[in-house]
Amino acid sequence: MKEFTEQKATTLPTAFWRSLRRILPADGLLTKPTQVAVYECDGLPVYRARPLAVALPRTRAQVGLVLALCSRYGVPVVARGAGTGLSGGALPHAHGIVLSLARLNRIVAIDPHNRTARLEPGVRNIAVSEAAAPYGLFYAPDPSSQIACTIGGNVAENAGGVHCLKYGLTTHNVLAVQFFTADGVLHEVGGVTGEGPLDLLALLVGSEGLLGVVVEVMVRLTPKPPATVALLAAFRSLGEAAASVSAVIGEGIIPAGLELMDALALSAAQDYIGIPYPPDSQAVVLAEVDGDLATIELDVAHVRRLLLGHGAFAIEEARSEEDRRRLWLGRKSAFPAVGRLAPDYYCMDGTIPRSALVSVLAEIGERSRHYGLPVANVFHAGDGNLHPLILYDAKIPGELERVEELGAEILRLCLAYGGTISGEHGVGVEKLDGMCAQFTAAELATFHALKSAFDPHHLLNPGKAVPTPARCVEPGGMHVHGGRLPFSSLERF
Ligand SMILES: Cc1cc2nc3c(=O)[nH]c(=O)nc-3n(C[C@H](O)[C@H](O)[C@H](O)COP(=O)(O)OP(=O)(O)OC[C@H]3O[C@@H](n4cnc5c(N)ncnc54)[C@H](O)[C@@H]3O)c2cc1C
Repeated sequence: MKEFTEQKATTLPTAFWRSLRRILPADGLLTKPTQVAVYECDGLPVYRARPLAVALPRTRAQVGLVLALCSRYGVPVVARGAGTGLSGGALPHAHGIVLSLARLNRIVAIDPHNRTARLEPGVRNIAVSEAAAPYGLFYAPDPSSQIACTIGGNVAENAGGVHCLKYGLTTHNVLAVQFFTADGVLHEVGGVTGEGPLDLLALLVGSEGLLGVVVEVMVRLTPKPPATVALLAAFRSLGEAAASVSAVIGEGIIPAGLELMDALALSAAQDYIGIPYPPDSQAVVLAEVDGDLATIELDVAHVRRLLLGHGAFAIEEARSEEDRRRLWLGRKSAFPAVGRLAPDYYCMDGTIPRSALVSVLAEIGERSRHYGLPVANVFHAGDGNLHPLILYDAKIPGELERVEELGAEILRLCLAYGGTISGEHGVGVEKLDGMCAQFTAAELATFHALKSAFDPHHLLNPGKAVPTPARCVEPGGMHVHGGRLPFSSLERF
């Protein structure tokens, strides 16, 4: 575990705390160590830091006032949704406050006519589809964490999910965003009529809380398809399963979802949910095909042929909602299931061209054997978005460091095949070194300039997502090394 419990800054003036208390509701400011401890990490608990306080506003006006106050006193602010992020994006700043958006959780409006929803940032992802269901609509981006993660966090991370292959990522489903800049000024980007030559909405989505604090999001709602069929195809080798995915995509078919689970993930999921996969399965591919009643049978038959042609020895088909839910259950439960195999696991996130799936999975297997660290693969194969889960025991001295080395090798592999260091979990603090490997100095300088244009005093989530030039020229190159620098020593950029 990487502790970032650095000495706190000299205390802030009493006037700051008095003003903060005045802005927030009576129960809206947490300062006791036992209270703020709950917020000291996100879904990547190897990084930890205690904030000075946690602010829990209930209204957007309070958000704006808190930001303006922090700006006046030069206090760093880390926005937080549900804290399910997997790259340390919501890791607190030891000299700053956490600004939780969890209590701004109203669905402001559902407009079935225009197929849109207006949401406060703390609305949980799944709650949007639940609210839209009576109108025959749903919100397509569906991260596996959707019962907990918030729309604000989804926007900040440009979250993906099983159905993003066909329906697009968060960025393709967000129409407008209202956000405060660090100085407490409210802005709106996007909107039904669009805007000028600069696509600022695309910039905001995926900006990891560095450019502004999102207080309202307008999303696109999608009509539920008339028919949906899920297929679970079992393979005797991981290579065949991976090749079948490349073949489906290569044929120009875009299933609603196309996921892959390897043998280790399967055995974990099967024990967890108590539903057996076909015996001898070394990998399964889950393909969901949806569309019009007139065309769906052709698409299903086509996908079936491709899966069988690439070595599937059993295919299970599910048509009713209940059967589909059962077929997907293992995939949806895979992360907690794998979590039972070892005391700890480290969830990687990288992308590769889909045509490279077979080679990259084989190389990950070789490296896993070399390091003696088991790796389970369960991922959005259709998007080429890998999630190798490295199993380990953090209590064994040196084991975490070896996990980090293996993780860095996997990311280098992604880059070598023309992929990226992150598909959907973001950069946060975890992948600062990976950014040095993926982007040139000129590109990173552009990112810094953008950050400065929105947040000249670098108060929003400082030290995250974009490495300093100094960090990138340090010897050792990219080693994606959790906590290589103590968080407090990450230079402002
Ligand atoms: C079991 C599990 C499965 C997961 N599966 C997926 C998956 O399939 N796809 C996927 O994409 N991700 C997945 N994730 C990662 C995570 O759930 C997503 O990144 C999610 O979008 C984070 O939302 P959150 O509300 O928890 O944000 P947090 O973790 O609280 O914050 C994430 C980042 O967003 C910023 N932020 C939060 N709210 C705001 C706001 N209102 N304004 C500005 N910045 C803000 C924070 O500062 C931080 O940088 C998974 C995580 C877990 C634990």
